[in-house]
Amino acid sequence: MKDEITGKLKRYFGKTVKQATQREIYTAVSMTIRDEIMEKWVAYKEKTDKKPQKELYYLSFEFLMGRAMGNNLMNLTETDLYREVLADMGVSLEDVEEYETDAGLGNGGLGRLAACFLDSLTNLELPAFGCGIRYEYGLFRQKIVDGYQIEMPDPWLQSGNIWDIARPEDIKEIHFNGRVEEYMENGQLKFRHLDYNTVMAEPYDMPITGFESETVNTLRLWRAVSPEVIDMSEFNRGDYVKATENRALAEVISKILYPEDNHYEGKMLRLKQQYFFVSATMQWILSKHKQKELPLDRLPDYVQIHINDTHPTIAIPELMRLLMDEEGMGWDEAWGIVGRTFAYTNHTILCEALEKWPFEMVEHLLPRLAMIIREIDRRQREMLCDRFPGDYGKIEYMAVISQGQVSMANLCLTACHSINGVAALHTEILKKETFKDYYSIYPYKFKNMTNGVTFRRWLYKANPQLASLISQSIGDGWIKDYRQMEKLTPFAQDPAFRSRFAQIKHENKVHLAEFIKEKNGIEVDPDSMFDVQIKRLHEYKRQLLKILQIVCRYQQLLEHPEQADPQPVTYIFAAKAAPGYKMAKLIIKFINDVASVINSDSRVNKIMKVVFVENYSVSIAERIVAAADVSEQISTASKEASGTGNMKLMLNGALTLGTMDGANVEIREQVGDDNIFIFGLSSEEVLRIYAHGKSPSPEIYASNPVIKKAVDTLIDGTFNQENLFYEIYHSLVMGSGFADNYLILADFDSYLHACQQVLDKFKDKDAWFTSAVMNTAKSGFFSSDRTIEDYNREIWHLT
Ligand SMILES: *Cc1c(COP(=O)(O)O)cnc(C)c1O
Repeated sequence: MKDEITGKLKRYFGKTVKQATQREIYTAVSMTIRDEIMEKWVAYKEKTDKKPQKELYYLSFEFLMGRAMGNNLMNLTETDLYREVLADMGVSLEDVEEYETDAGLGNGGLGRLAACFLDSLTNLELPAFGCGIRYEYGLFRQKIVDGYQIEMPDPWLQSGNIWDIARPEDIKEIHFNGRVEEYMENGQLKFRHLDYNTVMAEPYDMPITGFESETVNTLRLWRAVSPEVIDMSEFNRGDYVKATENRALAEVISKILYPEDNHYEGKMLRLKQQYFFVSATMQWILSKHKQKELPLDRLPDYVQIHINDTHPTIAIPELMRLLMDEEGMGWDEAWGIVGRTFAYTNHTILCEALEKWPFEMVEHLLPRLAMIIREIDRRQREMLCDRFPGDYGKIEYMAVISQGQVSMANLCLTACHSINGVAALHTEILKKETFKDYYSIYPYKFKNMTNGVTFRRWLYKANPQLASLISQSIGDGWIKDYRQMEKLTPFAQDPAFRSRFAQIKHENKVHLAEFIKEKNGIEVDPDSMFDVQIKRLHEYKRQLLKILQIVCRYQQLLEHPEQADPQPVTYIFAAKAAPGYKMAKLIIKFINDVASVINSDSRVNKIMKVVFVENYSVSIAERIVAAADVSEQISTASKEASGTGNMKLMLNGALTLGTMDGANVEIREQVGDDNIFIFGLSSEEVLRIYAHGKSPSPEIYASNPVIKKAVDTLIDGTFNQENLFYEIYHSLVMGSGFADNYLILADFDSYLHACQQVLDKFKDKDAWFTSAVMNTAKSGFFSSDRTIEDYNREIWHLT
């Protein structure tokens, strides 16, 4: 192995280990690992090529993969071997791993879910392809300067990516704009797309390995390339800029990832991106199917296409187009095939996230698809008129095209054979509220698939010491078989085990403290309670509730030090805000301003510290989850579809402090009331308040002096003299129409009470670590392996 690595350094870089740079060493080590993966990949493809079988195509606009090298080493079970070999060469494996840039091709939970699913599909040896876009720039890198978020580009491909392979032989042509001509052929009405613009889609394949698994699946990401290299006539005339203009215009399609989480904007480029990767994928799927000489009408027996949220929905009319215009099929037959091929996952009920595209935009960009969508709408409306005669309100609400807009969700609800929510509560809300009319027609289509996370990355890799303690106690079967995690339950009552568990948590906290010292220059005490809220910054996730509670505690420590709880706590935040989301960015500034006042106030800073870790990403998440004591999951009930951060933290023995929202409900079911802290309004209560239309917040602000005092720091100069936070204050107490839309003040008292319960419990280390172990022991249900088993049993039926 040593020869392998030094050989790569010599052959590819002309260097010895001593002469090599970090990048060269990282590359040489990765190439060595990759060689092994290639062997497996080839063998797997050879095996699967022999006998056609049903395959899954998981279409997602985002794949938040994180780092690949360490993950692949883990899967090959060669981490220790490489660590030793490298140490022998004077190189630290951890340093080499740290060199790798995250593949940050996603915003948050939705993209990370796609990544965990690929891992689990492979662990379960199910044949699957992830399909998406190879963005040249991933999600921006966040810097905090003077308390403000600054966005920097993430040119993750700049020094090359050795984990993917270009497949120029599979390049597809994508057509935009132009017009459609109708003509007759053999008595049949036909359609011809003319005068279109062409962009080429070039695929890059990344092998997806599984833990001790022979299966190697594929993540195929498409890159946009111009069909013309450069316009030579322009070039020869000396117009260098114009000559490269067209090329740039085509290639912009796969340049950037839209940085909004749980939100969409009807931008033409976004629709272009969606059609681009979806059309390439559909053409590829059909060409493979035909190559295998399988009949088209049996497509659903060999191909299941899953749509991760509505972003890839345009795949539905695109497959219709290909089957009719390219394969000569009639509408009914094509529609039947489409209906048995597609399944859809809904990820949110937030209105601002439900995609609606102006029909005119679709017509301009994709004229033939617009015709097909119009025909789907026409037939659907006919059916709805029969079903709900005269109920025009309902028909408009359910229509595919309404008020000049295409509802991507309604298109999915109409066309797909399966529709699922991502946690039990979320699915119930879909059935009873958001999609209740569709549920009344197609109850059999609705399923719940509670999200999960891969135990390999989020425990075995992120927390190797805890993983090894678990394996010593119950064997290492839990790594591939989540059911075995349950065997840890009796160890919660074992003082020796708890003490080892506590010791490992402490060591992880020491490591995180070192990281914080290095990055933020803040000294934090590993003996303090680590209370973490790590997720995208969103008003509904209520980072503002957390920071206002911290402000409350600060005020109490100053005013009534004799009554205040002396338990030291380190409050840790990590969150990116969408660059255009003003309120979210202001909240980041507020958190940082509160942090700098508290951290430098010697009256309290032995008892509380506030840390904002910049650039939240998969590799930052891996560090933090291993070191957390408390997991803050405090969204306004009904707003968080599931959450997966809650699962990663639970798995690592953090206790959840949360509302009855998303998968928190199911976490509580698994661990029991003694091992979780639940507070706040229920989703029913929240929905009732909204329906009623009157916010309780102004009254609470006026009548509760503790709350008022904390909220007033937004405008009284306590943390910033420039009155920067007036807008936050205004949104809480007045707002236009409905004050405090996320009901922060309504849940405040209940939250303060729950925070005190957490502090009280933390002082009783036996009780705390009994609960911590119980959280790990009861996490089996939240393995993405369980989720994928559910999807496969209920939806895909792969073998
Ligand atoms: C898991 C994860 C998320 C999702 O966190 P939630 O708390 O479920 O919103 C977002 N970003 C990253 C980097 C993650 O790893």
